[in-house]
This record gives sequence, structure tokens and C-alpha cells, in this order.
Amino acid sequence: MTGTTKRALVPHYFHRFVCIGGECEDTCCGGWQVPVDRAAYLRYAALDDAELLPIFAESLRESPERTEHDYARIHTGSDRKCPMMSGEGLCRIQLKYGEPYLCDVCAVYPRHANEVGGVREQSLSASCPEAARLILFQPDGLEFDEVLLDAGARALVTGRIDPESRLAAGTPEAAFWALRILTIQILQNRSYALDDRLLMLGLFYEKAQELVDGGQGDQLADWAQGFGGMIESEAVRPLLRSFQPKTDVKLTLLNILLQARDGMGIRSARYADALARCRSGLGLREGAALEEVVPAYEHACREYYEPFISEHGYLLENWLVNHVFKTLFPLHTPSLYEDFCLLALHYAWVKLLLVGMSAQGQGLSNEDVLLAVQSYSKEVEHVHAFTEGLYVTLTGLGYTRLPYVALLVKG
Ligand code: SF4
Repeated sequence: MTGTTKRALVPHYFHRFVCIGGECEDTCCGGWQVPVDRAAYLRYAALDDAELLPIFAESLRESPERTEHDYARIHTGSDRKCPMMSGEGLCRIQLKYGEPYLCDVCAVYPRHANEVGGVREQSLSASCPEAARLILFQPDGLEFDEVLLDAGARALVTGRIDPESRLAAGTPEAAFWALRILTIQILQNRSYALDDRLLMLGLFYEKAQELVDGGQGDQLADWAQGFGGMIESEAVRPLLRSFQPKTDVKLTLLNILLQARDGMGIRSARYADALARCRSGLGLREGAALEEVVPAYEHACREYYEPFISEHGYLLENWLVNHVFKTLFPLHTPSLYEDFCLLALHYAWVKLLLVGMSAQGQGLSNEDVLLAVQSYSKEVEHVHAFTEGLYVTLTGLGYTRLPYVALLVKG
């Protein structure tokens, strides 16, 4: 501790995280180019270390960005592992010189930091298996605490908003707390099925976006309050019943998305494993006849996925709530509705993996959900350029309209 502290909002699980190093079933840096900040780059350049210098010479290259936080990158080898990793799965820089020598990204991962109105918010990324265990395996749902953090502790603050600022007046930023609270209340409302909770968010954010586009952003907080009342009075149920599943359309759309990601090359062995199990369980291969895949999906959903998720729905609920908190949802992308669509896309994609895995294994376990969520978070969700590009493409085709998004989510 440096002696000074800073107010912070964190999920209950946050302080329980400890990296399990060589025991970890994945590695943080596997398959990724690790961005190295300028200060760390200069520390590495000044090292006179016969063991590390050849590794730096081979793998540390200038970043195309050349910014303070992304000044150089450590490239992984052909085995897709970080070249700094020892045979025991531990980082050589940390082992020899301690954590202060690590670059910012390695020092803080999987911790994620934002600031809302000057208050630090910290959470963990589900792309780390140990973090994902803490996030997912809480049957009572995620809760948050205001705590005091060491003000000098290293953190990479990636998002900053100030709902109280004069510049925010009349914009979604000013309504941030009303939007965030309603979103989390909906996601944690267990009197509705998870699919329906996503659909309620769709109904809410479709109208919220209309208000913003019509220059009525100052009405967002009232709309959040009114929609909360509709949920409480159950007035929203008839609207939810108007969305009926269409498995053939859903699988056609999702298969296009899977193929788009496959086309970029799969780097994570764990995601490749989850995907292979899903494809094998559903017979979802290139050229597969939809008439065979649809009954396989519906059977697995009914016999394996739904019975498991009706008992363990908190696993996906916690993942979604963590995503909302960590990404400053719904202000992560330029539009409220885009944030919703990406959340729905993440959910639909992981659900497809799980239904397919349940077909292949004739059942599901907590470990299966951990594998699907963690590997998806690392391989797909983290690649913002890919998911945001998908949103643009899908919007161009008209597939981000709510009835289509509902087809992705429902059933
Ligand atoms: S993925 Fe998480 S638990 Fe595994 S080595 Fe990295 S920080 Fe540690």
C-alpha cells in the first residue's frame, strides 16, 4: 500500500482473485500479441540479461500504434505461447525481476478498470479461467461493494465517464445510472427466463435509442422508470410472447457468424475444443443439411440444455452482469442499441456452443459452461474490431432489427 486510498466499486468476488500460474488450464497470453507500454519497453531495453535478451530480440517488435500504452508488442511463437513463459508456465520476467518489471497489461490482467464520476470501478475479465470461476460460480448472483483501494496500485483505466458533468446533460451519459441499474435488475430478475430477460432489454433499448435519435435523451431516466414498472406489473409478458423461436433462421444466422470467426483463424485451443464439440453434437459441418441440424438442436435444447440451465441459469446471468459492469454498458459503443445487440450476440453464441456441447456429451456441467464462456470471451468477445465489424455487416443486412435479434436469442 502507498498510504493513500481511492474510493472504488468492485464486485464481491474481486479481492478473492489470485493467479494460479502453472496450475492454470490456459495462459493469459496464449495466442495474443501482448502490448507493451513505453515505460516497460524502456525497462526491457536497459536490461543486461543473457537469458532474456535473445528472447526480446526474437519476439519484441514495435507496435504499429506506437502509443504510450501500445508502444511495442511481444509476439507469440509458433506454439502460440508467450516466449517469456518458462517450462513451468511462469513468466520469466516476473520470476527474475518481480511484478514491477512487467508491462502494464501483464501486471493488471485479468483486472479491468474504469472510472465513473471519478470513482474507480474494478472487475475481472472472464477470459481468465480462474477469474471466470469466481464470476460464474455464485448461485446468489453478483453483488457490488464500495471499498477503498490503494491509490498507487497499478491499473489500466480503459473507460471514463462522468454522468454529472455539464457536457453530459441530456445525453445517455447523464442517464447512465438509471440505465445500468435497470439493465442489471432485468438480468437478475429470475422470475423471467434468461432468453426473456435479453428480450426485455431489447424492447427497452430499442425505444431508448429512438429517444436519443429523436433528441429526447433527457427522457431516458423516465423511460427506465416506466419500463421497470411494466416489468413489475407483468405488463411486459404479452410482448415477450409475441417473439416465437424459429430454429432454422437462428441456426442459419449463427452459422454465418461462426464461419466469419473461423475465417480469421482460431488461436485458442480451448475455444477450438468447445466449437468442435458443438459442431459434432449438432452435425453442424460445412454443407450440413438444415433439416438434420434443426431437430438435433431442438432435441439437445429440450433434453439437456434447458434442464441444466433451469437449475444453473445463474452461470450465464453472472457472466452477462459482469460484462455489463465491466464494459460500462450501454455506453461501450456509439449507440445504446448496438451495445444491446452485442450483448445479445454474445449470449446467443455461447448458448449455441452449450447446446451443441450438451448434444455431444448428452448433458452439461459447470465445467462445460466455464469452458464455453471463458474461451469465447478470449477468442471472440475480446476482439472488439471483429464484433463491432459484425454489427456493421448485420445492420447493413437488416439483421440487427429487434425481431431478428430475438430469433438469435429465443429458443
Ligand atoms: S489466465 Fe488467469 S489464472 Fe491463468 S495464468 Fe493468466 S492470470 Fe493466471
